[in-house]
Amino acid sequence: MTRYTGIIDAYRSRMPLPADAKAISLGEGRTPLIKLDNLVRHEGVEADLYVKFEGTNPTGSFKDRGMTMAVTEAVHRGAKAILCASTGNTSAAAAAYAARAGIKSFVLIPEGKIAMGKLAQAVVHGATIVQVRGNFDDGMRLVKEVSETSPVALVNSVNPYRLQGQKTAAFEIVEALGRAPDYHCLPVGNAGNITAHWLGYSESAGLPTAADSHFAAHSTIGNFATVTTRPHMVGYQAAGSAPFMRGGPVKDPETVATAIRIGNPQSWDLALHVQTESKGWFDECTDAEILACQRLLAEQEGVFCEPASATSLAGALRDLKSGKIPAGSTVVCTLTGNGMKDPDIILKGGFPPMIEVDAVKSAVERVLVDRL
Ligand SMILES: *Cc1c(COP(=O)(O)O)cnc(C)c1O
Repeated sequence: MTRYTGIIDAYRSRMPLPADAKAISLGEGRTPLIKLDNLVRHEGVEADLYVKFEGTNPTGSFKDRGMTMAVTEAVHRGAKAILCASTGNTSAAAAAYAARAGIKSFVLIPEGKIAMGKLAQAVVHGATIVQVRGNFDDGMRLVKEVSETSPVALVNSVNPYRLQGQKTAAFEIVEALGRAPDYHCLPVGNAGNITAHWLGYSESAGLPTAADSHFAAHSTIGNFATVTTRPHMVGYQAAGSAPFMRGGPVKDPETVATAIRIGNPQSWDLALHVQTESKGWFDECTDAEILACQRLLAEQEGVFCEPASATSLAGALRDLKSGKIPAGSTVVCTLTGNGMKDPDIILKGGFPPMIEVDAVKSAVERVLVDRL
């Protein structure tokens, strides 16, 4: 048995890091690829449908894959502090990896729109939390400006090391399936993750991609080719926050899926390359579709993801039903984050009344008898 120590150690030769850079890791990666046979039956679709559940990462989202790389590189360069704008999960990951590295973290969050669990994470790891009177896009603009003149490392997904870390999810999927899926579906906010997955699939197939704009010199294309195909990449946005569907930035994005409440995606051009090269598409889901799918997945399969994450599955199920994704396809949906980060959204949706009993065996037995 070898102890698993995270994605940098697992894929070091495929990472553009200096050889002497010491990995700052929490054991991220190696997340489960869960086959949804109950759901497929329940929904009457025909597919090999999987979810890659990134909610099992150390801070509960895929952001850990990117953050281990961004923080490792920043610390190697001598950075003493990191800075990010966040809808919640980036700040949770930044705060945790900064704590692990023994450096400071500064996180800018939008006023009043962050899930409780995510805020608690930033607090417990000791981040300096700055609430901006504005939305995520305002925070993003500010951290870009500030990082130009202050001695801090910017760790949003405009930092190319983030995408290099996040590409490892595609490596794991290819290893688990022994092939690339036919379709890979993701929720899209800044569009960094859809770009990162395409990088990973492209490396796995030994194929170049125009979405690899930063590490051409380091390119390991061809060295690690294990499969011959790449999936169609499909990105789903929340209807109130769907700049890729509107053809440009959305001024006041609004959705219950706060992790993708982003009107001005930072990886706009890269994601368009991904769409073109992969012959994929963008689409949108309403908040009602997103929340219904989150419940459906939890009830049918025992998997609890956060609202933004359910966007990928909601869209995939709809496209399977319409035949846009052909019957019999192998489909992977990324579930980007853990549902426990945002319990409010579930409890706000209402739940059956709790049954109150006296503290005696017979009272509990009566509850069971009535329902078995
Ligand atoms: C960050 C995040 C997204 C969006 O990813 P992008 O790379 O910004 O497109 C989706 N879901 C969750 C849970 C996230 O934390």
